[in-house]
Amino acid sequence: MLFARTSQATLKPFAICLLATCFAMPAWAANEQNPDQPVPPSAQLPEDENVEDVERSEPRADAQPAEAGEKPAAKESAAGEGSQQAPDAKGDVKDQTPDSGKVAPNIDLKEVAPMPEPEPEPAKESESDPEASAPEQAPDETGDKADASPEQAAPETDTAETGDEPSETTDTQDEAQPETEAEAKAAGSFSLLGKEILPGTSTRLAWSPGIQIAGLSQITPVLVVNGAWQGPTLCLTGAIHGDELNGIEIIRRTMYDLDPEKLTGRVIGVPIVNLTGFQQGTRYLPDRRDLNRHFPGREDGTLADRVAHSLFKNVIQRCDMLVDIHTGSLKRTNLPQLRADMNNPQVAEFTRGFDSMAVVHSSGSEGMLRTAATEAGIRTVTLEAGESLRIQEHQIEAGVNSLHSLMEKHGMISRMFVWGDPEPVYYDSTWVRAAHGGILFSDVELGDRVSEGEILGYVSDPITNAQHPIRSSAEGRVIGMAVDQVVMAGFAAYHIGTEAEVPGE
Ligand SMILES: [Zn+2]
Repeated sequence: MLFARTSQATLKPFAICLLATCFAMPAWAANEQNPDQPVPPSAQLPEDENVEDVERSEPRADAQPAEAGEKPAAKESAAGEGSQQAPDAKGDVKDQTPDSGKVAPNIDLKEVAPMPEPEPEPAKESESDPEASAPEQAPDETGDKADASPEQAAPETDTAETGDEPSETTDTQDEAQPETEAEAKAAGSFSLLGKEILPGTSTRLAWSPGIQIAGLSQITPVLVVNGAWQGPTLCLTGAIHGDELNGIEIIRRTMYDLDPEKLTGRVIGVPIVNLTGFQQGTRYLPDRRDLNRHFPGREDGTLADRVAHSLFKNVIQRCDMLVDIHTGSLKRTNLPQLRADMNNPQVAEFTRGFDSMAVVHSSGSEGMLRTAATEAGIRTVTLEAGESLRIQEHQIEAGVNSLHSLMEKHGMISRMFVWGDPEPVYYDSTWVRAAHGGILFSDVELGDRVSEGEILGYVSDPITNAQHPIRSSAEGRVIGMAVDQVVMAGFAAYHIGTEAEVPGE
């Protein structure tokens, strides 16, 4: 009896301790990463490209022109190849080696399908082959090879719903070729994660970062649509922060809407990168680290480093273009917007493919997927859509529409209608902070246009009854803001965007 009581008593503080650790998590994680730097209050509220990232961003270079004109698809592929060279040299692309015995089943992504089977990793490890780079590239550039053997390039249709192994025999697919596009070249197979995806097919693959107990290991689904026609590879990543749900749905709708036989290029989607965080409703990895501060990762580093490395090596380096989809933190909300390094001409040009989206310049912080991918020569933006832990139809729609316009701009799909307002709007931005602690009440709404000195909201002191107005430091538009809540002095409450020149014009 006494014993039971004692254990009850010891359990309680333990639970409280757990809870406390839970709440302190963001600050804890931030401190660990930057032990020398004190953490300002706002940094304790996690955000993707958080307030500090925006504030520390290199200013946008004046009128740095983007590359004029659009690049043909062929050039885009070439750019992508460049970025694939690096890992090849290290010979760590072994599991991308095409293997005719591992043709991925063609799955209609609209159909409900069984989960993909993971590749048996251990066998692969031992056959590390420095020559792997040669076969790895082959499928990417099989334009000529495919031309030589049209039956390989020909998309097969009959087994689409059954998920059977695709047959090599040609039926009547040639008639389905878009003859209107004179320049369209039949695509070749694409190898990813140890599987070969035939042109004109779509499939679900399995990626495992290999951090879990082997026997309990879970795999992360990777959706691939390999178009029947040669073109660039667009990658979409969602839920790098496990509590950010809008991106998962944006990727689902975008991917499932693609017709592989009409697609030019490829689209790779990883809807839930941080699967463990997603299952627990948290933005972090099991080691409480923010995955989006660990790219491109390290094979022998921390858990976050390893996950980042695995994703970067196996998936990201295969992309020509990448849209990493995020949301604001729990207590802040954003207009749908892109974060992009407008000082990078290729990225600036890339942003022009997104319709009527707000584009906020941010040079990006070290360890972000956006930063690492851009440095690897992949044109990358972050798409911020709404709040975490919510499914928001308006934000999802805006994201899907924007991705459609992007794919059309790059000749990957052709749409039946024309957008009324296709141009993105560019912003430089600044954060307005609360000068006093208290309860924040906003007078403005997301998207409102405000003038310098205008009162955006008040911080009310519940004890003294003092009302402290927060005034805008600039004329512009409210592109992000905190929801009403208790704040401390220094809390970044309003993100004001000031319209900037459209690059290249
Ligand atoms: Zn995020």
